[in-house]
Amino acid sequence: MKIDMQHNGREIANANLPAREDWKANVRVDYEKLLVLGHELLLALGEVPNREGLQETPRRWANAWREFVEYDAGITETCFNSVSDNQMVCISGIRVSSYCEHHLMPFWCNVAIGYIPNGKVLGLSKFARIAHQFAHQLQIQERLCQQIADEISRIGETKNVAVVLNGEHLCMTSRGINTPGMMTSSVMDGIFQESSDKRIEFLRLIGM
Ligand code: ZN
Repeated sequence: MKIDMQHNGREIANANLPAREDWKANVRVDYEKLLVLGHELLLALGEVPNREGLQETPRRWANAWREFVEYDAGITETCFNSVSDNQMVCISGIRVSSYCEHHLMPFWCNVAIGYIPNGKVLGLSKFARIAHQFAHQLQIQERLCQQIADEISRIGETKNVAVVLNGEHLCMTSRGINTPGMMTSSVMDGIFQESSDKRIEFLRLIGM
């Protein structure tokens, strides 16, 4: 199964999210509470928390959530002056993991990004950092896609940004309908929305 959703998902992207400057500022998990909850979860699942194999599970579970929530993407805003302003720059092969906010189950996405510099080019590692940064919160794929596009647009000071995410969601593959499936979502802004030629060129360059 493949779902294609080419859309401009701004309403979704902005729903109930703090402004960029406040985003995840100093978010910390309540680690002691996670330890208790991990124990309670095992009990609720009908398990015996002190049996061998489960004794350290609440701690490992709490550690995993802490690592997810408190992830630090490092510096994402390094830019250089661009040599030319009509080159299309494409980055593909970035892979991020996140958690679906509807089911608290993992999903992962291959991320492809295209943009046309407007006097500034982003340092190459920044694209992956930006993608990881927004993946490290409870997410839906459409919002993740829009947030990556908006952030590249903001840092690179260009409206001409395209992002395609191709994701596999465990809430679909291992529960519910129980079928493998990939979901593709895309945001095409600026010239990528206005020009089908630019859109096609981008999709060709990222191998779609
Ligand atoms: Zn889900």
